[in-house]
Amino acid sequence: MTSSPSLNSDTLCDLAERLKIWGRELGFQQLGITDTDLATHERYLERWLAAGHQGEMGFMAKHGTKRTRPEELVPGTLRVISVRMDYLPAEVETTKVLSQPDKAYVSRYALGRDYHKLMRKRLDQLAKRLEKEVGHFGYRAFVDSAPVMERALAQKAGLGWFGKNAMLLNPQAGSLFFLGELYTDLPLPVDAPFATEHCGRCSACRSACPTGAIVDDKIVDSRRCISYLTIELHGAIPEQYREAMGNRIYGCDDCQLVCPFTRFTRVSEEEDFAPRHDLDQAELLRLFAWSEEEFLHKTAGSAIRRIGYERWLRNLAVGLGNAPWSAALEAALKARLAYPSDLVREHVRWALARQSEKRGALIHVA
Ligand code: SF4
Ligand code: SF4
Repeated sequence: MTSSPSLNSDTLCDLAERLKIWGRELGFQQLGITDTDLATHERYLERWLAAGHQGEMGFMAKHGTKRTRPEELVPGTLRVISVRMDYLPAEVETTKVLSQPDKAYVSRYALGRDYHKLMRKRLDQLAKRLEKEVGHFGYRAFVDSAPVMERALAQKAGLGWFGKNAMLLNPQAGSLFFLGELYTDLPLPVDAPFATEHCGRCSACRSACPTGAIVDDKIVDSRRCISYLTIELHGAIPEQYREAMGNRIYGCDDCQLVCPFTRFTRVSEEEDFAPRHDLDQAELLRLFAWSEEEFLHKTAGSAIRRIGYERWLRNLAVGLGNAPWSAALEAALKARLAYPSDLVREHVRWALARQSEKRGALIHVA
């Protein structure tokens, strides 16, 4: 990081105010500034890792204290500018698809183009605006791309509190937003942390979690979380969670959708976040029929692409195992028994066994 020019405190206060205006002009709904002291969160993270809650996400431990000490990740960092951007596209239904078991539920953040590029570009634009005012200064922009404690930094910067579902919640916006950060060596004045936790006696998120992954207030055991199982996990999805997955084939939003603060969600006007290929209400069978070429073509520039075709089929097979029986569905599963992947075939066999039970029950009733 290059060193910052020396600026007096009045100038720094004025810049902090103007940063908030520029942030809004660039499409961020909120911007806050914090220092780099994450000592409390470092202890939480250590306990979470010691309990093994990260599952296969070795990267959560890999970077040591770089994650909790911003100045170790980017030497010279004095402040973190934290921003948030709402992502729910207009006219996208949030809960209806969950009660339509022949359809696929894709986490609402992943329906459109990948947000990383857009957010990163806006953060760079923010830095350039600042640079115009103060000359060269040290900064680096992050959007979920490095070991960064984004929610902890956002809480410290005044953007919200940690809900019992471990998401960052904002009283005026719920939790359906992305976070991004600009690490900087400018000694800007900091904002007050978000001090009040508004969850109170509510525990709707914990009761609604299909797999019981919220093992304590603010503690999610990733190994049970459907987001982890469908996106991060490379191998077989443990059988005990498959039925509870229902039709969630990429991520899960249940603990956010039931949250009373989600009613304050504001829809996004960013075109990039609009659903592509009807992914907000696609039928499981239609997605299962995509060839690998179609998958690669249709998920180009989307967050979904990162799981690859094999895990895409794995997740869809589980969804199809949980769907109502139909001859077409059974035929589609059988056709995948020849797919050259043990992982896919094992999940397809599981789905067929489930479907055979359902067909048997139908015949019995008839
Ligand atoms: S994302 Fe889904 S599975 Fe994970 S904690 Fe929330 S409700 Fe549970
Ligand atoms: S559902 Fe209730 S307990 Fe959970 S995060 Fe929202 S307000 Fe907090």
